Amino acid sequence: MAKNKEETVLITKDGIRHDGRKREDLREISFEVGVLDRADGSCLIEWGRNKILAAVYGPRELHPKHMQMPSQAYIRCEYRMATFSVPDRKRPAPNRREKEISKLLGEALDPALFTYLYPRSVIDVFIEVLQADGGTRCAAITAASLALADAGIPMRDLVSGVAAGNLSGKVVLDLDDIEDKEGEGDLPIAYLPNLEKVVLLQSDGIFTPDQYKEALDMLVPACKKVYQLQRKAITDKYSQINDAVQKDIDAEAKAKPAKDKKKADESKAKDDKKDKKKADDGKKSKADKEDKKKKGLKKPSKKKDDKKQASKEKEAKKD
Ligand code: UDP
Repeated sequence: MAKNKEETVLITKDGIRHDGRKREDLREISFEVGVLDRADGSCLIEWGRNKILAAVYGPRELHPKHMQMPSQAYIRCEYRMATFSVPDRKRPAPNRREKEISKLLGEALDPALFTYLYPRSVIDVFIEVLQADGGTRCAAITAASLALADAGIPMRDLVSGVAAGNLSGKVVLDLDDIEDKEGEGDLPIAYLPNLEKVVLLQSDGIFTPDQYKEALDMLVPACKKVYQLQRKAITDKYSQINDAVQKDIDAEAKAKPAKDKKKADESKAKDDKKDKKKADDGKKSKADKEDKKKKGLKKPSKKKDDKKQASKEKEAKKD
């Protein structure tokens, strides 16, 4: 449970936050890409104590048909919090907050994708918050964009999200749950780092114009930092696949000379066997011929003798 405002010092005069971070520090972020076998693309993100799973299915034909868009794909996003993801049991039915976050995450992902390539289709993005600790929408969109990349969907850019906050008048980055609940303001953004385009910007609480500007100035580099981690996660995954493929190719190339030698030996053995059989057959037929010849000299044909005898008798009768 969150402590009372009086008990928690959210930020000291020196700018140190309750968990020891400085104003611009992000919590630790790690990604695992391709964690689900049955999804086309997936990503598990751990951002501080947030644990969020994103799964992508599609593009596939959109049903019901009346929802199809003739010139582009529909990015259908579903953000859900597990009942066990927060300290107070979350009711399983989707609430207003989840519906709102689902809609805005889908809209923020859309500009990153070449949706015109898949008219009348849907790309489903499912986001399951397994454990929440503030900043789940930013973590969710960051993971979702990696899951889309993992699904091989053509993208203009990745999407990186970070939130800024106002703690006792000081602008900080990446609020956790306590800071989110007890701070004065929360300003999450999602950003396309290469196109330098903000695709989501919300503001909750109080920010003066200067604080607002300061927050944006801090958020853009923070999103670029998150982007570098995303890039590494996806390239690491594909370099692992590359390494595995290369290993197979090398093993095959190594095994080839031995295989070829075995094949050559086998065909030589076959030829030798054939030659030996031919030679044996030749010897046998020669021996048979000689045998027959010998037999022919010793024993004149009985049939011939009988014929001669019959003709002699015939002549004698005539006389
Ligand atoms: N939260 C909660 N119960 C809920 C919704 C949210 O305890 O039903 C917590 C959760 O830790 C979440 C935080 O409140 O991360 C801040 O929620 P917010 O609506 O500001 O969205 P987020 O910062 O997660 O994008």
